[in-house]
Amino acid sequence: MHAGTEHSEDYRRLFEENPQPLLVCDAAAHVVMEANEATLRMFGATREGLVGQSVTSFVDADDRAAFEEKMGTSTLEDQDWGPWRFNTPDRSFDAVCQRRSVEFAGRQALIVHIQDVTLRVSHERALGQSEQRYAAAVKGANDGIWDWDLVSDTVYYSARFGELLGYEEGNLGDSPKDWFSKVHPDDIEHLRLEIDLHLRQVTPRLKVEYRMQHRSGGYVWMLTRGVAHFEDGHAVRMAGSQTDISDRKAGEERALQGTFYDRLTGLANRLLFLDRLGFLIRRAEKNSDYGFAILFIDLDRFKLLNESYGHALGDALLADVGKRLSRVIGTGDTLARLGGDEFGVILDGVTDPGACLYQAQMLLDAFSEPFIVGGDAAHLTASIGIALNDGRYGRSDDLLRDADTAMYRAKKKGRARYEVFDEQMHHEAVAFMRVEADLKRALYASEFELFYQPIIDLSDGSIAGSEALVRWNHPERGLVMPGEFIPIAEESGLIVPLGEWIMFEACRQCRHWLDQGLEPGTVSVNLSAHQLKSGRVQELVEGALSQAGLDGKRVQIELTESAVMEDPEGAIQVFRDIERLGVRFGVDDFGTGYSSLAYLKSFRFGALKIDRSFIQDITTDAENAALVAAVIGLSHSFRAKCVGEGVETAEQLSYLRLLRCDLAQGYLFSRPVPAAGFEETLRSGVQGWHQLLF
Ligand code: C2E
Ligand code: CA
Ligand code: CA
Repeated sequence: MHAGTEHSEDYRRLFEENPQPLLVCDAAAHVVMEANEATLRMFGATREGLVGQSVTSFVDADDRAAFEEKMGTSTLEDQDWGPWRFNTPDRSFDAVCQRRSVEFAGRQALIVHIQDVTLRVSHERALGQSEQRYAAAVKGANDGIWDWDLVSDTVYYSARFGELLGYEEGNLGDSPKDWFSKVHPDDIEHLRLEIDLHLRQVTPRLKVEYRMQHRSGGYVWMLTRGVAHFEDGHAVRMAGSQTDISDRKAGEERALQGTFYDRLTGLANRLLFLDRLGFLIRRAEKNSDYGFAILFIDLDRFKLLNESYGHALGDALLADVGKRLSRVIGTGDTLARLGGDEFGVILDGVTDPGACLYQAQMLLDAFSEPFIVGGDAAHLTASIGIALNDGRYGRSDDLLRDADTAMYRAKKKGRARYEVFDEQMHHEAVAFMRVEADLKRALYASEFELFYQPIIDLSDGSIAGSEALVRWNHPERGLVMPGEFIPIAEESGLIVPLGEWIMFEACRQCRHWLDQGLEPGTVSVNLSAHQLKSGRVQELVEGALSQAGLDGKRVQIELTESAVMEDPEGAIQVFRDIERLGVRFGVDDFGTGYSSLAYLKSFRFGALKIDRSFIQDITTDAENAALVAAVIGLSHSFRAKCVGEGVETAEQLSYLRLLRCDLAQGYLFSRPVPAAGFEETLRSGVQGWHQLLF
């Protein structure tokens, strides 16, 4: 301020009206000598309130010493220093200062330029706070934090990032290698791809799940999220979080395990097996050089083991079987538990039947050593059906069905073996299905008829009763014998409704004869093993008897010896139940089923029927003759009647009489005849047979 010139007034105005806050203070005590309008506005003070005061007195007490020092430092000429916090009676503000030494009114003075930076400072302060908050969050977060400087290629890893992998703070380094070298080899490619996609701005953010090796050696599942920061289209930095998702993954895997894997054996389940089968069928359709085979494995007589040892041990046994089978299965092949005691194998890429047979034999050999069940050694075998897919299968169901058919054939041939599905089986299977459908239709169309074969009392030649034998009056084929359709009815389960009809019809017919004043004796009705298993025998017999208004004594149930021995306990129960109804029970085809005497005792049978095969050569084969004699003796010791079946000659008859056989049945007396024919015999009496006997 060069006062005293003609321009002094102009200069004064330049000072007064300068938009920048300016003040003049003495160089020693910093007492304000002059302050312009802008300064007064900034300080919210009047000229009187400011002039004469030390500038320092307005500075925040904490900063005063530093402020004084800066004011006294001449080298700071024309430089910003601060910011300082200024407090005046009316307001507070942050400001940076600039100072310049001048001479004013004859004294050493300073011009001070004060610039209000309150806004910037508060902004920075807020920023500082959020940074602190961020730091605190990083420290306390469950997630690891990473910040990758892509320019210097260094990574900041938060302490938690390391902790998730078992490392202590600072033990991880700052290189991307510290991260990527720990990623599971199977996942690294995927991770790199995801990062690359984001850095090329293909994906808006990085989100990827992969496994990392924990310091302890195992792997943990990580979820990494991140966002890159781009400058001029180039990624310069990427930061994000790292979450341990091992628990969630384990849950997902368990859920997946439940859907596609068998809980008991840990093997693939039916669903996964069918899924894989469908996939390979499509592959075989597309590529004529490609083929594969499936093996259907069914354990032999597992049900029996399961019932005698209990289900818990049965389950353990199945798990053992699964383990043994998996040992002989190649790595590229699939082994699954299809349900119950059924297992399935897919031999991937196999077109040579020889290779299938070899594999099947290996699987059978896996059963050669006994299994240990509840401390016992249990011998288990399996039957295997093989089907080769040469591209002609379009559906997995068909392929599985054919393997099942072949397996069934293996069972029929004596179990513990394998069979390959072939054209012959195909035709038989088709024929089977046709008969099955036809049988169903026949049931509704009432095409069945009962024939009756008389059973003769050998003591007086009278008719003791008859055996009801079913026939099928087929509209095209004529009279079909039971040997042709009973096995199919049994396998398909149709024997249950058919057997119901037979029982009701036999009782109805017996009632009818009685109503005619005839004496039909006892009617014998055959029951199949499947009916025994249905658990409805008592209900059935009771229903048929009551509907016909028939006494239980009029009916005898015949069950073959082998059917009885298949499930002796079940048979005993059924016999007890029907015994209460007064119904007797006869063991059919005796001598062919290897009965155990211990069981026989508890059967309380009313009749033993000696199988036709023994009667046939009773006069020529001494061994059979002795056996027949023994059976007759046996039935008498059980107070049961003995019936000789299939008596065709007078010699057979006289020999049976010699051995004191009670009853006989055979072509010698009569073939099975329709109800009307038997009724005729009942009316006309039995003179002819009497002649035979006496
Ligand atoms: P099965 O119960 O042993 O019946 C006796 C079979 O021997 C009958 O054959 C009968 O016709 C035949 N037969 C009787 N006397 C002689 C003879 O002197 N010489 C010869 N060679 N055969 C004789 P069918 O009627 O063909 O029945 C065959 C089998 O079919 C029966 O054997 C039985 O197991 C089954 N079956 C027949 N009817 C029924 C039924 O209603 N229900 C069930 N579940 N099975 C039945
Ligand atoms: Ca019979
Ligand atoms: Ca028989």
